[in-house]
Amino acid sequence: MVNASIRYGARIRKQYAAVQKEKNAQYKCPSCGKIKVRRVSTGVWKCSHCGKVYAGGAYTFTTPAGEAAVRTIAALSAQKQAA
Ligand SMILES: [Zn+2]
Repeated sequence: MVNASIRYGARIRKQYAAVQKEKNAQYKCPSCGKIKVRRVSTGVWKCSHCGKVYAGGAYTFTTPAGEAAVRTIAALSAQKQAA
């Protein structure tokens, strides 16, 4: 099934396989801590244990840009509380 829609070129097949692996993996839920978060649709991730829905990357639960945004928000709210 890995190469169902990609045919020509070893490099692109490898990239596709890597993306599929990330896409189909289960991730740790930030809310309940269970490894139960699965991709529902593009950018939509849902925990099958607690039912929470998360906005994430298209094919991975978190993206470097998303993590940077979370850090910035945390830093700003900490700053706000201190002031
Ligand atoms: Zn959960």
